[in-house]
Amino acid sequence: CPINGDDIRQCFLNFYASRGHKILPSASLVPDDPTVLLTIAGMLPFKPIFLGKEPKRIPRATTAQRCIRTTDVDNVGRTARHHTFFEMLGNFSFGDYFKREAIHWAWELSTKEFQLPSERLWVSVFKDDDEAYSIWHDEVGVPKERIKRMGEDDNFWTSGATGPCGPCSEIYYDFHPERGYSDADDLGDDSRFIEFYNLVFMEYNKKDDGSLEPLKERNIDTGMGLERMAQILQKVPNNYETDLIFPIIDKASELAKVSYAEANDVMKTNLKIIGDHMRAVVYLISDGVYPSNIGRGYVVRRLIRRVVRIGRLLGIKGDTDGNPEAPFLPVLAETVINLSSCIDPEVKANKPRIIEELKREELRFIHTLERGEKLLDQLLDSALSVAQDNGNLQKPCLSGKDAFLLYDTFGFPVEITIEVAQERGVGVDMEGFDIEMENQRRQSQAAHNVVKLSVGSETELTKNVQDTEFLGYETLSANAVVKG
Ligand code: ATP
Ligand code: MG
Ligand code: MG
Ligand code: MG
Repeated sequence: CPINGDDIRQCFLNFYASRGHKILPSASLVPDDPTVLLTIAGMLPFKPIFLGKEPKRIPRATTAQRCIRTTDVDNVGRTARHHTFFEMLGNFSFGDYFKREAIHWAWELSTKEFQLPSERLWVSVFKDDDEAYSIWHDEVGVPKERIKRMGEDDNFWTSGATGPCGPCSEIYYDFHPERGYSDADDLGDDSRFIEFYNLVFMEYNKKDDGSLEPLKERNIDTGMGLERMAQILQKVPNNYETDLIFPIIDKASELAKVSYAEANDVMKTNLKIIGDHMRAVVYLISDGVYPSNIGRGYVVRRLIRRVVRIGRLLGIKGDTDGNPEAPFLPVLAETVINLSSCIDPEVKANKPRIIEELKREELRFIHTLERGEKLLDQLLDSALSVAQDNGNLQKPCLSGKDAFLLYDTFGFPVEITIEVAQERGVGVDMEGFDIEMENQRRQSQAAHNVVKLSVGSETELTKNVQDTEFLGYETLSANAVVKG
């Protein structure tokens, strides 16, 4: 049975290859799909095939797909099993085999290849899916106490608001079989269970109006979290302490001069966040996503800036050579890149570009970070004292204007402001923030128009506006430009 992460990945791919699946390389984190920001699951590259928009060239495929789920960012380091960046191992059937084979193979892989004791495995099925229930119960032999029927939230998988979808069936590992069975057993109890494999019986297309239209063919789409299987097989308490991620945490501990084993819970969480986010940003940049204030670029920017801030909280200053002025992200990136060969062989070739981007973004942020932190502290102090003066009738709150000032002038992604405020029990007026953001957009648009009408060539002036983007459009007010 495989133990290290790279072997687990290969074992999965080989298992399905020997059952007629073609091993395909991971697709980019940037999907070829305008409705999705980033690749969130192994099925995404195959969406056009499932929808019948592209011909299938093969009936079966298997992949280890790199994925990003920004929706899990607040779980990072707080649960044992969630990352923003992770690898999803998948086997896919394009109108070929369906439920029976998918279930039997998933069981065989889990119990024979990975040698998980069958009495530790629990499964869930969609509440109405009697077919899946009976395959698990009558054919595989899972006792009824360990099969749970669950509702739409857990057992009906959709890749987004619209698109291919279907009922699913999941396999869970039980860390505490000694607790026995009871009616109250809740597979969502993560002190006991971990979901590691999801089998989606993809037979519908969800339309704009929410209705389900049967697909021409019935497909299989599955996902197994590599880091989760590594956690189980390596017998460590969380995904972060597996060989896939721990070396990054180790490097961060070395930079911070702390010992992970002796660190308190807050420090451990912060080290895990660094381990997670560093992987995410390295693979995003490698796939061509650069820090910016919009869309995918903003995802990279806020993850990088969070690492920079958290690194400082941990006491990281400078690189391993003792140069206090040197950026530290490149040091961590080096470790991520060293671990990358089997995840994506192209990362090593992109190393200079990755290091350069990280360095640039870190230095850009560090420049204003200290002053911004001081200001944020003061703003939080005064939000707390205003609330106190009002008899604490309302929760202390930072205004949208202040959050915007931090964003616009000090480069604080609003998610960082929210996080810091939350630590001190202060909320952030997001509605107000959005209004400020919208105002800025309108002003920049106005400036743009004035420029176009008043002076010089359009391209030259458009370039000016773009060059000064980082300072915020406010500094380039319409008047100033017209006078200039
Ligand atoms: P969970 O309920 O634990 O959040 P999920 O039901 O959202 O997981 P799926 O969408 O079913 O996850 O994805 C398929 C598999 O991918 C999961 O069974 C899990 O092994 C893995 N996975 C999903 N999200 C993450 C994540 N954020 N980090 C690591 N692995 C993940
Ligand atoms: Mg989830
Ligand atoms: Mg789930
Ligand atoms: Mg799931």
